[in-house]
Amino acid sequence: MIAPTNKNIVVIGAGYGGVTAALRLSRLFRGHSEYQIHLVDKNPYHTLKTQLHEAAVHRREVSIDIGRIISRHKIMFHLGEVTKLGLTGKVISLGDSTIPFHVVVFALGSQSNFYSIPGLMENAFTLQSVADADRIYKHISVLCARASSENDRDRRREILRFIVGGGGLSGVEFAAELADHVAKCTQDYRIPQEDVEVLLIEALDKILPSLDESLRRQILKKLLDKRIQVLTNTKIVNCSPGTVTISPDNVLKTRTVVWTGGIRITQLTQESGMAIGSMGRIVVDEYLRSVDFSFVYAIGDNALAINPQTGKPVPAAAQFALQQGRLVAENIFADIFGERKKVYRPKVLGEVVSLGRHLAVGWLALPFIRKVRFVGFVGSLLKAAVTEKHILLLRKESRNWIVY
Ligand SMILES: Cc1cc2nc3c(=O)[nH]c(=O)nc-3n(C[C@H](O)[C@H](O)[C@H](O)COP(=O)(O)OP(=O)(O)OC[C@H]3O[C@@H](n4cnc5c(N)ncnc54)[C@H](O)[C@@H]3O)c2cc1C
Repeated sequence: MIAPTNKNIVVIGAGYGGVTAALRLSRLFRGHSEYQIHLVDKNPYHTLKTQLHEAAVHRREVSIDIGRIISRHKIMFHLGEVTKLGLTGKVISLGDSTIPFHVVVFALGSQSNFYSIPGLMENAFTLQSVADADRIYKHISVLCARASSENDRDRRREILRFIVGGGGLSGVEFAAELADHVAKCTQDYRIPQEDVEVLLIEALDKILPSLDESLRRQILKKLLDKRIQVLTNTKIVNCSPGTVTISPDNVLKTRTVVWTGGIRITQLTQESGMAIGSMGRIVVDEYLRSVDFSFVYAIGDNALAINPQTGKPVPAAAQFALQQGRLVAENIFADIFGERKKVYRPKVLGEVVSLGRHLAVGWLALPFIRKVRFVGFVGSLLKAAVTEKHILLLRKESRNWIVY
């Protein structure tokens, strides 16, 4: 029940940024009962989205019940899909119900961008949610089982041709995981390994463009070791049930296309009247407030925040969503109580690319040492440590021993 006298601070989206913001807000406003913190999500769980490629091969559980996260906090959770943002009336709609707000934080994350490529949205899998990961897992299981009794070699190869579109972080991590998983499945069914093909297709001239050349070379080598074919300068131009056309006129027969080639923000922000920039991200000031509405904050993938050091937009990544979640909570508190707000300065903590169960390549900024690079098993331990750090921080912020 929403008390009409309360001033509602509403966080929409319970991903990395939203959960962090809601927990910190609840702590800051603990002694101010006239303020009520609300958290809204269409799912009753928090998704460890950076681990979805592992969920797609059933290697990891990636959801944590929201109830466990907020149980020791005075946060009101609303399960529902945000369908409208009424900024002038200061109300958000979840289908038929509404939540009036005093301040709102946008943390709705992102979804796949299909760039109007014909047939892609209808025929490709995406990897944006737990449901997507489950769908992919079941599909691969069915294909491997089907291939085991297929005597026609061409048809078997078609069944076992897997195409991953997009050579960014999620595409590369998923392709590596997929190659390991399919190798294991086909081994179990005694299917010849040479009938399996995993293709990673990237429109640019390189995969993982934000990484430096030497790390990229090492990643490429590891992908090739897993028998993944990496096709750069290659565009998917059409996708139909059973085929993918890649530039210029090459039609590949396949049952599986997983599209990780781009993201965009929900249409809702475009309809809200706020200034938006590339990918539909909300243009924010140095305090992560919408430049149009002082009571609207945006974080994570939703925010088009500019790094004051480089003048460039902060990338859509979990590490920045977490930092921004903490900062907006403090800035909302400061704004309400007339204190000085903090300017957002992103800290780049590293970039780690996992390449299957025991392998990762990347770098981390460790205290006192500037940049530590790693390749291989140690890398995979560090990647696991990054995920565990998020869980530990959630445990600390939520004051609860979350099991997931
Ligand atoms: C496979 C994969 C691997 C990745 N690996 C990495 C990595 O290694 N490192 C890294 O830094 N980043 C990685 N990323 C990117 C990272 O996951 C995102 O940048 C991060 O999740 C953004 O956090 P967020 O809080 O903005 O949104 P999210 O974490 O996406 O949370 C958004 C929340 O909003 C909810 N929501 C969405 N729409 C609605 C609606 N209309 N109504 C109600 N609720 C809604 C969703 O259910 C979700 O809970 C990866 C992404 C993917 C897909």
